[in-house]
Amino acid sequence: MLETTPMAPTALQPVALPVVGTGALFGVRRVYCVGRNYVDHIREMKEADERDPPFFFQKPADSIVREGAIVPYPPFTEDFQHEVELVVAIGRGGSDIPVDAALDHIFGYAIGIDMTRRDRQREAREHRLPWEIGKSFDHSAPCGPIHQARSVGHIANGKISLAVNGKERQRGDISQMIWNVPEIVANLSQQYELVPGDLILTGTPAGVGPLVPGDRMVAAIGGLGEIAFTIGERSAR
Ligand code: MN
Repeated sequence: MLETTPMAPTALQPVALPVVGTGALFGVRRVYCVGRNYVDHIREMKEADERDPPFFFQKPADSIVREGAIVPYPPFTEDFQHEVELVVAIGRGGSDIPVDAALDHIFGYAIGIDMTRRDRQREAREHRLPWEIGKSFDHSAPCGPIHQARSVGHIANGKISLAVNGKERQRGDISQMIWNVPEIVANLSQQYELVPGDLILTGTPAGVGPLVPGDRMVAAIGGLGEIAFTIGERSAR
């Protein structure tokens, strides 16, 4: 028998992140991610040429989890992993942005974690299928508040790290990126028109690894402080 409960139209549910030091919110339009961008992580993943051009995938804007909320252990994986990343927040849009003008388009920076169903990502890669199942699931983008570039400057170097239950697992330096932030912005803007509200996760250093319910992740980037998230229980499904 068909469900007879009347359905209401849904209200707009904008996704937004707090802007540090202000009462303002940064409304999120899209979440782009760089697929690989630190040599040592490419080596641990046994992936292809380290000088390949950057490639991008997206997560849904509503996969963002703000600090203070639990990151639920997702269904459909036995290998749920963390990838700490520098997040770039676009404040001025554009297409075909030159590398030497790219910083002018950046509103600010945040710390984000590209949560990954590693088993599903590996299968997708082996079968040459899209990455959505491994990367773009619900609650897959925990993200800290946005620090304005005019307050903290542009982030070109500094430690990036992630600890689980107090033990450091990932550690690198922003300067180890294969494609730096201006190059990423310029390259992405050739493929898509960037719009204020777009976020770009810029890749992860080595040390990615599995999580279990109850784990506490603390991610840090020099100049941006740290963020913390706890992994929730496995879904009942
Ligand atoms: Mn990543």
